Amino acid sequence: MPVNFNNAEFILSAALPEQFIRDGRKQIAFAGRSNVGKSSVINRLVNRKNLAHVGASPGKTTQINYFLIDGRIYLVDLPGYGYAKVSKSERDRWGRLMENYFSSSGLLDLGVLIVDARHKPTVDDMTMCDFFRSNDCPMLIVANKVDKLKKSETEHNLELIRETLDLDETEILIPFSAEKGDGKENLLGQIKAFCG
Ligand code: GDP
Repeated sequence: MPVNFNNAEFILSAALPEQFIRDGRKQIAFAGRSNVGKSSVINRLVNRKNLAHVGASPGKTTQINYFLIDGRIYLVDLPGYGYAKVSKSERDRWGRLMENYFSSSGLLDLGVLIVDARHKPTVDDMTMCDFFRSNDCPMLIVANKVDKLKKSETEHNLELIRETLDLDETEILIPFSAEKGDGKENLLGQIKAFCG
């Protein structure tokens, strides 16, 4: 039976490594700059308005949120990064949590890196991309907010994202709109194919 993404529940928020879930189920981690639309993408995938909290005060939550899908896989919502007004102590906390998460072997099965389709990926986006790569973690890139681009701009921007993140032709970049639903079936298909 394919995984039913309409059957999703919030499990817990982890602020400390001891709280990371290690129960053998596959974990698909979503990463992205604050405000890129990470919560909206997750909500779109599970057909819910407010499972992941949209518009949560940017950078205020240094927590990893776990959502269980169909009792079978976890969507892991990593805390957003790159919000300018965050204090140094908060940024340090973010860094420690990420290092702990990425260095805890066997937690991460697939990374979904969400970038803004309108802009060149930021240095932080590149760092996050390298986090996934250096862990030999398979990765999907999602270019969100394509609804804000003219058709003629989309192709150019996708190419810029590919170049900036140094994606090779086997790496998958999915144009997406959490707002309108573009790319949803593509992303779900990739995740389901991965989960087997
Ligand atoms: P997060 O901080 O990455 O979790 O971002 P949110 O999901 O809270 O979204 C930030 C803002 O971008 C909200 O106002 C969303 O309504 C908006 N947003 C998210 N995805 C899209 C999209 O695909 N298109 C448009 N136009 N707006 C979006």
